[in-house]
Formats: sequence, structure tokens, C-alpha cells
Amino acid sequence: RAKEHGRARTEVFTAALRDAILIRHRLQNDLTRAIEEREVFLLYQPIVSLADGRLTGFEALVRWRHPELGLIGPDRFIPIAEETGQILPLGRFVLEEAVRNLTRWRADTGLPLSVNVNLSARQMWDAGYVDDMLAWLRGTGCAGLKIEVTESMTMTDPDRALAILGRFHDLGIPLCMDDFGTGYSSLSYLGRFPFDVLKIDKSFVRDLAPESDRARLVRGIVNLAHDLGLDVVGEGVETDAEQALLNTLGCDYAQGYRFARPLSLEDANGWVERARPPTPAENSLQT
Ligand code: C2E
Ligand code: MG
Ligand code: MG
Ligand code: MG
Repeated sequence: RAKEHGRARTEVFTAALRDAILIRHRLQNDLTRAIEEREVFLLYQPIVSLADGRLTGFEALVRWRHPELGLIGPDRFIPIAEETGQILPLGRFVLEEAVRNLTRWRADTGLPLSVNVNLSARQMWDAGYVDDMLAWLRGTGCAGLKIEVTESMTMTDPDRALAILGRFHDLGIPLCMDDFGTGYSSLSYLGRFPFDVLKIDKSFVRDLAPESDRARLVRGIVNLAHDLGLDVVGEGVETDAEQALLNTLGCDYAQGYRFARPLSLEDANGWVERARPPTPAENSLQT
């Protein structure tokens, strides 16, 4: 009986594994077409100033609307795209689309808005690709663009990572360390890299309680980041209480469902429009 039971379990497991492999193949096969046919698109999640809730910019977050499988999140296809190299054309689309909207928002409002774009490891380590990216950015202009990389990406080969990230930095593109706290780097490690922004991972922010060890840890991270000249963004802020506490702990900016979910371009346009300072004509109408 035990043996039979074991076999049944193995069959269930094998079926699940086979399904997982099939779906993975499916996504991998469909992704190239998806990029060409523009089934992939960007959402924009507001990043706000913690003290006053003012819009400072957005993080661009990619989605895939698959004709049969529906909406697919990046956690399901970015790892596949990384492995196959499809991240290279996909990343190019993300960058160009994000910069295009950023440029329009800045021109329309005169505000120094920013858009953060996530860079994956495969993109970062490909020297020719980075050359092309930087050449394109030099040609188009990239005021307000910020690049996000995770600490684990910098850890595999710190010296090479330093050289590559330095090239973005030299072009005046601020660098954000994403998901800080989920990797293994020491805090002192931060000082070696030309980061301008530290994004505290949402696992530190979730259910953050006053006077807790975690709150003290976050305060320490914020103080150290500030000493090193970095701005700090709290990720995954969902509640008033988390917002208030992060503000008390000295955090500068925040991103999370408390303020907005990742937004369609149309809704992001609405946020930008509301952030736009009134023109002199509008001012005189009001007074
Ligand atoms: P990330 O860069 O850390 O992005 C933040 C993630 O947290 C996003 O998930 C966002 O929707 C989610 N989030 C924001 N606020 C909250 C909140 O209050 N609560 C919770 N629970 N989650 C929140 P998303 O959009 O699913 O993206 C997941 C990851 O996929 C990103 O993590 C990033 O690593 C990667 N990714 C997304 N777009 C791109 C892209 O264009 N290129 C690359 N290479 N990676 C991307
Ligand atoms: Mg990010
Ligand atoms: Mg993050
Ligand atoms: Mg993440």
C-alpha cells in the first residue's frame, strides 16, 4: 500500500513537473512574437515623497498580455527571458518606451520627473549591449532616467560590475540599488559602488512596527545610506502606519499600494497632469 501510495504521489509530481516544463516552453516560444507584436507593455508605479506625498516619478514595470494565457507578470517571464537572451530585445523595448514617456512628461510639465527602469544581469554583463544602450541614450537624451539593479547582480563580479555601472554613472544616469536587504552584501559594500538611491525591499517594510528590531534596522540602513549620500526609497508601502513610520525613520521616498498600484499609461498620464504646476493663466483664473 505504501508503495502504491508513493507511486501515485510520484505520478502527481511528474504530471505537475511536465505541466511546468510545457508552460515554460510555451512562454519561451511565444515570447519572441510577444515582443515583436507588442503584447508586452509597461505599467508605471508612482514613487512619492514621503513627507508630502508629492509625485517624483515612476518605476516602469513590464507586463505581458498573452492572447490565450491572459496577463502574465514579470516574475514568470523575466527569468525565462534572462536564460534565453530574449531579455535583450525586451529590455530595449522597455528602455525606449519608458524614456519616450518620461521625455514627454517632463516637457509637458516642466517638472524634474524621473522614470526608473530595471536592468537585468544578462543586460548588464553584455558589453556590446551596454554600448548600444549608452549610445542610444546619448543620442535621445535621458534626463530623469534612473537604472535599478539588485545587489546580487553586483556581487557575482564586483570589479566588473563597478566598471559597467560607472559607465551609466558617467553619463549622468543615477543608479538605484533595488530590493536592498534581500542579498548578502554588507552595508559597507554600498560605499564602493556609485549608487545614488537605495530601495529598501518590501520585506523590511511589511508590518513595520514602531520600536521593533526591524524598525531599528531600517533606521540604521537609512542613516548609513544618507551618510554615503544616497536617497532612500521604501518599497511595498501598503498602509498609513507603514508610511508614517518610514517617514519617522528618515526614509525620503516611497512606492507601494498605499499610494498607487502599477498604473496603465493613461492613469500615469493622469497622475502627471495632476502634479503639473498651474500655468500663469490658470493661476490668474483662480485668484
Ligand atoms: P521590483 O523591481 O522590485 O519591482 C517592485 C515590485 O513590487 C513590482 O512587482 C510591484 O508591482 C510590486 N509592488 C509595488 N508596491 C507593492 C506593494 O505595496 N505591495 C506588494 N506586495 N507589492 C508591491 P512586479 O511588477 O510584479 O515586478 C516584479 C519584478 O520583476 C520587479 O521587482 C523586477 O525585478 C522585475 N521586473 C519588472 N519589470 C521589469 C523590466 O522591465 N525589466 C527587468 N529586467 N525586470 C523587471
Ligand atoms: Mg525595481
Ligand atoms: Mg524592488
Ligand atoms: Mg523585486
